[in-house]
Amino acid sequence: MMEKYDVIVIGAGPGGMTAALYASRANLSVLMIDRGIYGGQMNNTAEIENYPGFKSILGPDLAKKMYESSTNFGAKYAYGTVESVEDKGNTKIVKTDQDSYETSSVIIGTGSQYRKLGVPGEEEYSGKGVSYCAVCDGAFFKNREVVVVGGGDSAISEALYLAGIVAKVTVIHRRDQLRAQKVLQDRAFANDKIDFVWNTNVTEIMGDNMKVTGVKTVNNETNEEKTIDANGVFVYVGNNPVTDVFSNLNITDEKGWIKTNDRMETSVKGIFAIGDVRVKELRQVSTAVGDGGIAGQNAFEYVSSLK
Ligand code: NAP
Repeated sequence: MMEKYDVIVIGAGPGGMTAALYASRANLSVLMIDRGIYGGQMNNTAEIENYPGFKSILGPDLAKKMYESSTNFGAKYAYGTVESVEDKGNTKIVKTDQDSYETSSVIIGTGSQYRKLGVPGEEEYSGKGVSYCAVCDGAFFKNREVVVVGGGDSAISEALYLAGIVAKVTVIHRRDQLRAQKVLQDRAFANDKIDFVWNTNVTEIMGDNMKVTGVKTVNNETNEEKTIDANGVFVYVGNNPVTDVFSNLNITDEKGWIKTNDRMETSVKGIFAIGDVRVKELRQVSTAVGDGGIAGQNAFEYVSSLK
C-alpha cells in the first residue's frame, strides 16, 4: 500500500516550505520530499539582508526558522530523490529512490543547481580548492588568496563574504560590467580586499596534485594570457534548472525552466511549480516564498474540487 497525501511538495527550499505551510494550515495532508537538508540554496548563502523581518540573517538560520513554520501544522518531511512523477488524472504517483506515494496534487520546487565552468582542473581540484559554496568552504582560506569567477549577485555577495575572511579576493568576470545589483557592486568596489579582472575567462585551474595553486586566464578582447595565483577558486557562473526528472510531463521551456501561470499552475492539472525552477524574472527568497503561498492556496482549491 502506498502512502497517500493531498499534496506532495518536491523540494524544501523557501518556496516548498511556504507551500507546505499554506496547504497544511488549510488542513490538507502534506509531504515535503527533499534529497538533502531543508533550505535549498539558503544553506549556501552567507547573509540574507533582503528578506523582510530580518535586517540580516545567515541563510541556514533562516532555513531553520522556515522549516519550523512549515511543519507547524502537520506537514511531514521525507528524505529521498524523486525519480518520477506520473500523472494519472486526479491521482499522481511520485516515486523516490526510497518509496512510492499517491497524491492528488504535486508542487514542484526543485530550484536550480550551480553551473560548472567546464575547464581543465575543475573536477580534479573540486574539494581541493575549487568550491561552489563560500559559506561552506570560505573558512579554509583564512588569510589566503582566492579567486571568484562570475559577475552576478551570487559572485559578488559571496566575494564580499569571503573578503571578511581571506587576505585577497580577485573577481574574474567575462565582461566589463557586473550583472549584480548596484548595492552589491558599490560595496564590492569600495572593499579594498576585492580586485576585479575584466573581460577575462578562466581557461584552466592549476594545482600541484593536492591543492589549487592558481588559474590560467585569457583576456577575451586582447587574447592576452595570464596566470593568477590563488589558493581557492569559487565558481558562481549561474544555475541550471533541476527538472530532468519531469521531462515526461512536458511542462518546461526549451531551457528546462518550468512554465506556469500566475496561479503557479503548470500545463498539467494538479501539478504546480514554484520558486527558482519556474520561468520568472526575479529569483529571490522573497519571490519563492510568494510563489509558495500562491501554490499552497491553489492546491487547496484544486484538491477541494476533487472531493
Ligand atoms: P546569474 O545571475 O545567472 O549570474 C551568473 C554570472 O556568471 C553572470 O555574471 C555571467 O556573466 C557569469 N557567467 C555565466 N556563465 C559563465 C561562464 N561560462 N564563464 C564565466 N562567467 C559566466 O547567477 P547567480 O549570480 O548565481 O544568481 C542566480 C539568481 O539568484 C539570480 O536571479 C540572482 O538575482 C539571485 N540571487 C540573488 C541574491 C541577492 O538578492 N542577494 C544573491 C544570490 C543570487 P554575464 O553577466 O556576462 O552573463
